[in-house]
Order: sequence, then structure tokens, then C-alpha cells
Amino acid sequence: MTSTLPSSLPSRASAPDAGPLPVSLRIRERLDAAGVAYLANDNIAEHLKEGELDQLEIEVAGKVRELLRSLVIDIDNDHNTEETAERVARMYLHEVFKGRYHHQPKIASFPNVKKLDEIYTVGPISVRSACSHHLVPILGNCWIGIKPGDRVIGLSKFSRVADWVFSRPHIQEEAVMILADEIERLCEPQGLAILVKAQHYCMKWRGVKEPQTSMVNSVMRGDFRLDPSLKAEFFELVKQQEALLST
Ligand SMILES: [Zn+2]
Repeated sequence: MTSTLPSSLPSRASAPDAGPLPVSLRIRERLDAAGVAYLANDNIAEHLKEGELDQLEIEVAGKVRELLRSLVIDIDNDHNTEETAERVARMYLHEVFKGRYHHQPKIASFPNVKKLDEIYTVGPISVRSACSHHLVPILGNCWIGIKPGDRVIGLSKFSRVADWVFSRPHIQEEAVMILADEIERLCEPQGLAILVKAQHYCMKWRGVKEPQTSMVNSVMRGDFRLDPSLKAEFFELVKQQEALLST
């Protein structure tokens, strides 16, 4: 005799009205199966299959459209917000959070033929990110100090890798560590120093609404960590570069 009680819900595969899985779910299942982290400031580019970024754009636009509707905005009749969902989806996936979905720009390193070992600094490099907590902008500047090792990379490449790392939702402390890891991987310097000064719009625009507050943090690796005079020289060079800005 068969039970009259409802059986458990049909599985997704056998449900007659089940459409294809949302692409974000397929990607998350793949990442979970591989044991790969996909935190807000992780890059997942190598786990995306061809065409999935386009599918994600469509899915995200749909969700943003629903968000706007939940915010009781008449997107069907408001000419200003008619295509906002599509713009926001493109902005997240290809601009402000591109560092999550796109591969690192190609950066070639070269042997340090002349055995250069004097420190140099590059900066200011623009920092454009968003806080993980509210997804509002973090804007500021970054300085990178290098004591070269066996390999060197071109000066402009520091801007490219910084832009790629910062274009993710972040907290500033972790962003600086991730940038340091990437630069170490690219050119294995004997010493690396990074300083970031940034304004957080979650403090300026909302919350405590402090327009002038900024956050400053740094990371020291290798010789910059071991040698206090090298660290002092880095901050002195940054000060000189800042002075150049006001002239
Ligand atoms: Zn925030």
C-alpha cells in the first residue's frame, strides 16, 4: 500500500519545471567540489568556463532588477533606472570587481642583470576598491618600495597589479597583504614595502559621516622588515613623493 503522505520534494533533476541551474550556483558547486575559497577578495577567474561570465552578467542584472523593485523603484516607468540593472552588473563584473572574475594582466619579469640592489619606490598609485561590508568605495593611494632580487618588473606593472588586486570587495588590511603576495610572486624582491592611505566611503557617506578620516596601513617583507633603516628610508622616499604632488 502506498502512503498518502507527501513524499519528499522531487529532486531538482526530476522536477518537471526545473530550469537549468543558475550559472552562479554551477560555479559555486564547482568551487566547493574543488575545495577552492571564493571569499569576496578572492580571484576565481581560472575556475570560470568560457561563456560563463556573460551568463553571470545576465543573472546579476536580473538580481539587481529585483533589488531595485524591492527598493520600490519603478524601473518600468523611470527612464533613469530603466537600464540600471544591466549597468550595475557590467560594472561589478568587468570594472569595480574585475579583480575577482578576470585573470591577472600579463606581467613579464626580467632578470636583474645589473644586480641592482638599491631600494626604489613607486607611487602614488591610485587605489580604487570597495569595502566588503557595505560595497561602497575605498579610494586612496598606494606606494610600493622594492629592494630588487633576481628578477625585476617594469614600473607601470605595479599599477596594473595593484588595480587588479584592489578591484575586489576588500578590507584594507587584507588588500595590502594580497598585493604584497602578488608582487612577491611576480619578482621575488629581497625586500618589499607597501603603504596605503585611503578614504572609506562607509565612513564618509554613511555611518559616522566623518569626511576627513582616512586609514593608513603598511606591510613590510624581507629586508624592509629586518632592517629599520631601510624601512625609514622607504617612508622618507614616500614623503618626498608626496611633497612632489603639492608642488
Ligand atoms: Zn563599509
